[in-house]
Amino acid sequence: MRTRLFGNVADQAFIDRDIAPAEDGQAFGADDVFKGFHLFMTECFITMGKNHADAVFPFRRQGKAQDVTFTAEKLMRYLYENPCAVAALGIGAFGPTCVDPADERYGSILQTPKLAWRGYSLRAAFAGTLGVPVAYDTDVNVACLGEAVFGCCKGLEDAVYVTIGTGVGAGVMCAGRLLHGMLHPEAGHMLVRTRPAEEGRCVCPSHASCLEGLASGPAIAARWGKPAVELADNDEVWELEGDYLGQMCANLVLMYSPRRIVLGGGVMHQEQLYGIVRKKTLEYLGSYIQTSELEDMESYICAPGCGGDQGILGAAELARRALA
Ligand code: ZN
Repeated sequence: MRTRLFGNVADQAFIDRDIAPAEDGQAFGADDVFKGFHLFMTECFITMGKNHADAVFPFRRQGKAQDVTFTAEKLMRYLYENPCAVAALGIGAFGPTCVDPADERYGSILQTPKLAWRGYSLRAAFAGTLGVPVAYDTDVNVACLGEAVFGCCKGLEDAVYVTIGTGVGAGVMCAGRLLHGMLHPEAGHMLVRTRPAEEGRCVCPSHASCLEGLASGPAIAARWGKPAVELADNDEVWELEGDYLGQMCANLVLMYSPRRIVLGGGVMHQEQLYGIVRKKTLEYLGSYIQTSELEDMESYICAPGCGGDQGILGAAELARRALA
């Protein structure tokens, strides 16, 4: 049996300790199928299983985040020191990043404010270490793919996946293909309309009133003085947050005409938000768009179907497609 490695690097993450197998008592064996690694802003997961589509992972290790290139290098060293017959790797990286295989910057992180990552040739580093096909896309496109293949967008060719957490980002699938264009969509930074009391609240270093700067987890914490998780009972917080996300969904409907919008990320753990966002989306659309999908808003704007594993499953699918 061939051992495979799949991976997904999403957003900033670092590990401050060595990665070691068997934390949960499991040993690495020749028949093990590595499913991937998935780096978030604050955590690192390494995941291993024997089944490509098995969303229940037997091995999950978590490290504290400090430095992303440091993390990538530790992961590579770990892989190098724990050799297995890797067949292909899939990486989903935070943006802005180059996803055009014809560009010499393909697989590199571009003008990110995360300085340690700027210019880092992420894909090339893993391809050089592992010597196998390494497929590469944005973290949110990969998560969109995960939902399209394994989650709540199965059978749909037009869908949008949005993560609302440390940042805001959207992966877009149009006619069955992940959308890139000249770079890739950066819908998390779309301009949104603000209320007078919100003037000067945007925490994005590049924009005066963008969605990420007003509705991400750090934006919520900056505005209300506490992290979102401690504000669950404050209706005012979620009414405002739902308004921004409603503007976003209305814009996504108007621009991409998706058949479903999946909202994930840490902020969406506040499940009361879904109902508010659905209502606000319809208000902002103003009956201008009328489709059967929009008549069933509970299905149209929904939570991820992969239980948080949409990124890593999408990365696995990206790797599988690289071998096809
Ligand atoms: Zn912005």
